[in-house]
Amino acid sequence: MTTIPAALAARLVTDPDVKATYAVDESVGAVPPGDFEVVRARDLADVVEVMRHAHETRTPVVPQGARSSLTGGSVALEGGIVLNVEALDVVSEVDPLEGLAVAGPGVINADLKAAVAEQGLFYPPDPASSAFCTIGGNVATNAGGLCCVKYGVTADYVRGLQVVLPGGEVIRTGHRTAKGVAGLDLTGLFVGSEGTLGVVTEVVAKVVPAPDPALTVLGTFDSLEDASAAIAALRRERHVPSLVELMDRASIAAVQALADYGYPGDCEAALIVQSDRPGHTAEDVALYADILEKAGATEVAVADDVQEADLLLAGRRALSPALEAKGPRFLEDVCVPVGRLTDLIRAGQAISARRGVEITMSGHAGDGNLHPSIFFDADDPASRENAEEAFGEMVATALEFGGTITGEHGVGSLKARWLAQELGERELERQRAVKALFDPHGIMNPGRVYWS
Ligand SMILES: Cc1cc2nc3c(=O)[nH]c(=O)nc-3n(C[C@H](O)[C@H](O)[C@H](O)COP(=O)(O)OP(=O)(O)OC[C@H]3O[C@@H](n4cnc5c(N)ncnc54)[C@H](O)[C@@H]3O)c2cc1C
Repeated sequence: MTTIPAALAARLVTDPDVKATYAVDESVGAVPPGDFEVVRARDLADVVEVMRHAHETRTPVVPQGARSSLTGGSVALEGGIVLNVEALDVVSEVDPLEGLAVAGPGVINADLKAAVAEQGLFYPPDPASSAFCTIGGNVATNAGGLCCVKYGVTADYVRGLQVVLPGGEVIRTGHRTAKGVAGLDLTGLFVGSEGTLGVVTEVVAKVVPAPDPALTVLGTFDSLEDASAAIAALRRERHVPSLVELMDRASIAAVQALADYGYPGDCEAALIVQSDRPGHTAEDVALYADILEKAGATEVAVADDVQEADLLLAGRRALSPALEAKGPRFLEDVCVPVGRLTDLIRAGQAISARRGVEITMSGHAGDGNLHPSIFFDADDPASRENAEEAFGEMVATALEFGGTITGEHGVGSLKARWLAQELGERELERQRAVKALFDPHGIMNPGRVYWS
């Protein structure tokens, strides 16, 4: 039976229905375990107390933000404590001179963007879940998103962290200054560690001057291969687009079924390309339109006012709920060298045809990061198994093409079994040894990332 110190009684979630909502995330088939507790921390002292107690009693801890993980990373564990830090949600500092913002882990990504925008600044990391995921979760998963093709991932915007380690020690990593190279990069170690080392309780984020409001080009293609040829051509441009997103026919249909976002229905693929380059957005989108045409686009439309550009992007942001509405699915997150994107798409189509399973293709194609959705019939175990095997084949294909098992969603529970294939056994052992340095009793999110 999981125990909680009396000092934290007021932070415990006791209503069974509410508690159950904290037990699962957005991953397929997540179910609450039988015995677990949920602590909603209000401040640093609460986090320290949980981590002290858990270390002493060898109780598993699942650090948790908004539970938008797609890999089972924030699902409650049997006999464990879910340590939710959403309430640590204050942006305590925005400093334009130093180009930084300081945020609690529970700050919603979009709220941090809004807070810094008030001072003419920009926090680029932009997962499609921006409206509801937390900065702590973003740091823990090294989240990517729509604008990585130009701006990079969360790791590129974290200067320093406050972290509570098992046992309750509070440490600071990194620096507040624009530069800083003293010692090993422990900030980099914690970014992307998926709650397996400690609990992030404060983030010193790098912010940059705000770009211009983006303008958008939409190109439609008769084949996914032509679309990926266009992506390759865009990647060679001197002024990299701020967004290059791909949707196939089924993805477009799903989005348009939700609402009319202005996408055409009669094409195999659509590419959404944006520029936010200060003073040059119109010039850039004209150039990108030309590139799409030369790559074989059947139609190219330039959304040359911000409202129309926003509508097209809103459609892209609606893709996840739209595909969700189609039925149960495994959501892939493979990333390959951009030069192998066409090969990945062809391989996905071949898997789909061979197994008779519907696979939609969409994602942050400008980075070679696709999110194929593999659909199954929840009432038919054979259909689910077939889709699961197709999922495994996509992972194996990405590795074969020199890619990675996860571009941005993380390893979590879902992909832990493939980590050794990507890293190799010796590298995996080194990583386990590093984890043991911070978490000697293995209480931090056990079974996630590192298969046990
Ligand atoms: C519709 C939808 C769209 C999405 N789009 C994207 C996308 O474009 N790009 C992308 O990268 N991801 C995307 N995701 C996945 C998800 O939103 C991200 O992984 C996000 O970073 C998770 O944030 P969260 O606050 O929900 O964290 P949670 O789901 O609560 O936790 C995620 C992981 O981080 C750990 N964690 C959380 N908070 C802390 C903390 N304070 N300290 C230590 N560890 C912590 C957890 O233990 C877990 O391992 C999407 C998800 C959905 C549902």
